[in-house]
Amino acid sequence: MTALAPEILAKYQPVIGLEVHVQLLTETKAFCGCINRYGGEPNSHVCPVCLGLPGALPVLNRHAVELAVLAAKAINCEIRETSVFSRKNYFYPDLPKGYQISQFDLPLAEQGWIDVPDALGETKRIGITRLHMEEDAGKSLHDGFADSVSRTYIDLNRCGTPLIEIVSEPDLRTPDEAFEYLTRLKEILLYTGVSDCNMEEGSLRCDANVSVMLKGAAVFGTKAEVKNVNSFRYIRAALEYEIERQIEVLESGGRVVQESRLWNNAEGRTYSMRSKEQAHDYRYFPEPDLPPLVVGSEWQSRILTDLPELPEARRARMIAEYDISRQDAMTLTASRSFADSFEKAARAAKSPKRVVSLITSELTGRLKAANLELEQSPVSLSGIAVAADLAESGELSSKMLKQLLDSCFAEGKDFAEVYERDKPRQISDAGAIEAMIDEVIAANPKQVAQYVAGKKTVAAFFVGNVMRLSKGQANPALLNELVSKKLDALAANGA
Ligand code: ADP
Ligand code: ZN
Ligand code: MG
Repeated sequence: MTALAPEILAKYQPVIGLEVHVQLLTETKAFCGCINRYGGEPNSHVCPVCLGLPGALPVLNRHAVELAVLAAKAINCEIRETSVFSRKNYFYPDLPKGYQISQFDLPLAEQGWIDVPDALGETKRIGITRLHMEEDAGKSLHDGFADSVSRTYIDLNRCGTPLIEIVSEPDLRTPDEAFEYLTRLKEILLYTGVSDCNMEEGSLRCDANVSVMLKGAAVFGTKAEVKNVNSFRYIRAALEYEIERQIEVLESGGRVVQESRLWNNAEGRTYSMRSKEQAHDYRYFPEPDLPPLVVGSEWQSRILTDLPELPEARRARMIAEYDISRQDAMTLTASRSFADSFEKAARAAKSPKRVVSLITSELTGRLKAANLELEQSPVSLSGIAVAADLAESGELSSKMLKQLLDSCFAEGKDFAEVYERDKPRQISDAGAIEAMIDEVIAANPKQVAQYVAGKKTVAAFFVGNVMRLSKGQANPALLNELVSKKLDALAANGA
């Protein structure tokens, strides 16, 4: 594909809508008692129900419903009190029943939204059309066997895994917005604990619908659906590719055909998979083996007690509570457990702000250098809180603090342990401390005058300066006592 001139690209407006499938973190599958777990010996997590054996009947997993409702509420959807399961019929080897239990015209939830920052940093509200429940299919194994050239094997462990599908309105306008939407959605799903959102294992999968139209046009263009993309970055790349491809088709006088396309990672392009003419007719009809799903207001409110403070609200509160930047708030809320430990540390520390700055200036840099995730840090956040307090009281110079943190990372040990071992030897010799106090007093006549005039709080200024001069080694209790004694003596003499 040749690169299109910017003035050609500028004539068109892309339109994007995303369909996201998310596996729910239940113990068992959606309609049977089989364990819901990734991997395992092929076809070991199966039973008559998920194998689709004749006569086996599905029973809906209550926990799956609760997680679906939780997710729906977290993305501001309205819950339908009575929703209906339907059969979506199609033939495929990894679907033994010959149909997928899904929801069609009466889905569990509708009309939600997620706020996403746009290119200008403004907040843009992306509509969610619906969230419905369904079950996953099994997997076809195309490679890895001696006879893989001639045979495909089937693993049905995944068959019947509970899923939610979240369909967005065609409100996204750029690949970057789509990336942001997915990032925010994943964050919300992780915070609510409904899924592990592990894209490599397929717990979160996305189909991206995209079309282009002339700017200002009244109707959207014909869309293509891009499938088989397994990271948000590749989805962005696939959308960028697809937008240019469609513009090129239109510019050369052609028409975009409605079709499904596959993303090829190695080649960085999409390929046609099936056109609308070949599209499935799913012959949906209500599932006769399952009664309508009723989630009354009482059950809903019980489920809602599990709804945590969501990432965006949490960031807004933390920015105000700890007086930190948005950037810092982003770092600190990277995961719910990290945000929890941060807040625990910040509330226990003398200066929450110093905890923040230690994390953002000292900890994250070292983690990055060591190629570690926050969760893998040798220095815990309570360790950071200890360090922050020592820095705050002047007992640790910033240089010493950095050295101790370096040792922690080099040895894989937490801060308190390294500090106890390597902490600066304290100077408890009164004479030595007095000499330093005299030096600081001589250098700061203005502050001395303030103290003499009755402003006793200035003592802290001298304590801090002497502590610094001693490289954090002065015995703090002794230092405090000696500073007051010296200054009081000066005051008594009317210095
Ligand atoms: P289909 O009937 O082909 O499944 P839907 O109307 O159900 O299409 O929409 C599926 C997804 O495609 C939704 O996320 C929706 O926002 C998006 N979508 C619909 N029309 C367009 C369009 N013209 N351009 C881009 N995305 C679209
Ligand atoms: Zn089963
Ligand atoms: Mg549709």
